[in-house]
Amino acid sequence: MSAIEVHDLHKSYGDFEAVSGVSFDVALGEVFCLLGPNGAGKTTITEILEGYRVRSGGEVSVLGMDPAGGPRALRERVGIVLQSCGVQQDLTVAELIEMYGRYHKRRRGVDELIELVELDAKRETRAQDLSGGQRRRLDLALALVGEPDLIFLDEPTTGFDPHARRQAWSTIRSLCELGKTVFLTTHFMDEAQTLADRVAVMRTGTIVAIGSPDELGGRGRRPSAIRFTLPHAAELPERIDAAITRDGDRVQLETTNPVRVTAAITGWAVAEGIELTGFCVTQPTLEDIYLELTGEASP
Ligand code: ATP
Repeated sequence: MSAIEVHDLHKSYGDFEAVSGVSFDVALGEVFCLLGPNGAGKTTITEILEGYRVRSGGEVSVLGMDPAGGPRALRERVGIVLQSCGVQQDLTVAELIEMYGRYHKRRRGVDELIELVELDAKRETRAQDLSGGQRRRLDLALALVGEPDLIFLDEPTTGFDPHARRQAWSTIRSLCELGKTVFLTTHFMDEAQTLADRVAVMRTGTIVAIGSPDELGGRGRRPSAIRFTLPHAAELPERIDAAITRDGDRVQLETTNPVRVTAAITGWAVAEGIELTGFCVTQPTLEDIYLELTGEASP
């Protein structure tokens, strides 16, 4: 069974169609990430799946239920971390988790949750005295208190420092190990690359590509670039199976077979005693593909 099934989803605000016929499935236990520029329609879709917005057309099933109207049975099984949600500022981390737990039939222990989001040192700190990143981790703990099967994370690490982001990623990965399904929106490509099993890229209300981060938009088949600096006056060997560009001493080889070309070049350089400085092999990043798909790549 899929955790989420969306077929030909439409959403209009007055005359403006913000989502125009979107279809996708999210498998149970999958981390699925929605990417797209501001205004592409990510929040609209996410909130329709959460039951906070009403769709204009199409079919949507979340854990086998129609989310329209926010049925209680669905709310019991879904955890939501919004970009900013208000909690009682004068309560401590432990008190808030304990209080939110009382709303749920199934609930996870306070100590276990505090450990999961790595807020052990802030257990007795009031919400108002937490840093922005710690607040977001508290929000995550509150979303997890009812033992949800499906978790919506809307830009979960916006405003985090690099260390806190790594911690949050490790928490999200622990959720996957527990078999949870995660629906994620983010503007960080490294986050999508690290966490997502599959990503869908949106552009003006439609999905323009969907796939694993490594294969999106044919990424796995794109040419790699091999770059290095040749010592002055050295000539490259003949018969290199790559498109060669030279700019003075700087050389770039573009190839769909980077392993063989790298072996040929480095073997030749070692045999000839030639030093290749700044040698590197790069493949298009998820960000390169994303910018291309969304029409935001620089010309
Ligand atoms: P961001 O990355 O900035 O959060 P998004 O991809 O989540 O953007 P949405 O918030 O879903 O985009 O908005 C999609 C489009 O629908 C935008 O053009 C937005 O202006 C419009 N829109 C969203 N909510 C409403 C609303 N309540 N009334 C009218 N238009 C809306």
